Amino acid sequence: MGKNRDLIDCDKGIIRFSYGGRVRYGLLTGARLRLYEGSPFAGGKPGKKTAPLEKVKILAPCRPSKVVAIGRNYKAHAEEFNSPLPPEPMVFLKPPSSVIGPGQNIILPAFSKRVDHEAELAVVIGKKCRSVTPEEATDYILGYTCLNDVSARDLQKKDVQWARAKGFDTFCPLGPVIALDIDPTKLRVRALLNKKLKQSAKTSDMIFDVYFILSHVSQVMTLNPGDVIATGTPAGVGPMKSGDVITIEVKGIGRLTNPVL
Ligand code: MG
Repeated sequence: MGKNRDLIDCDKGIIRFSYGGRVRYGLLTGARLRLYEGSPFAGGKPGKKTAPLEKVKILAPCRPSKVVAIGRNYKAHAEEFNSPLPPEPMVFLKPPSSVIGPGQNIILPAFSKRVDHEAELAVVIGKKCRSVTPEEATDYILGYTCLNDVSARDLQKKDVQWARAKGFDTFCPLGPVIALDIDPTKLRVRALLNKKLKQSAKTSDMIFDVYFILSHVSQVMTLNPGDVIATGTPAGVGPMKSGDVITIEVKGIGRLTNPVL
């Protein structure tokens, strides 16, 4: 593993980590993390104590009560599967038990022959949210992180519901940081498989933008602090095999790398 600093692009961000046997949240300030007193998802604020960024083990940046995901939100990705463009955001769920942090193994299930990476920008909810407009959406967003919507493609084609294909343990790598105060509309989302570029698009290519998606989902279900919305993947999805290393990068946020076993 390289340096933690090399995983992070943003100047201002929140990291969840273990240090000295405890799990904490910290606000990134240069080479140190200012420790939160309590959780940033329950009104906690950074205090005076700090931890050195390079000494902590970075974990998934939040513990969502649900991960809401959007299918076919980039035109070129819909086209690669000859799928029609959705008239409204196509919503599905990934279970919280699928979430893993940076560096943790993605485990390939024995009964799938094809497991794909999907590089995505993820929204992290900061405030309880229900029936909001796109204009109000920013008030409920804490920040943004990287997400790999790992998908058992053969099972996805076989099943009508995607719960199985999208829901295996370890199928939702998340992190490494919740970037604060960034513009989500002009970010570059990439996937690198064994350092080779596989996916690359700008978030401005999304069919439905982040604010519209949040508003749309909030008409259906209450979003809780720490919940995550995966905003869809660009073209170029492809299979991963045991021994591979997959990196999801969002420029301006950071890099999320996981080995595949
Ligand atoms: Mg996806």
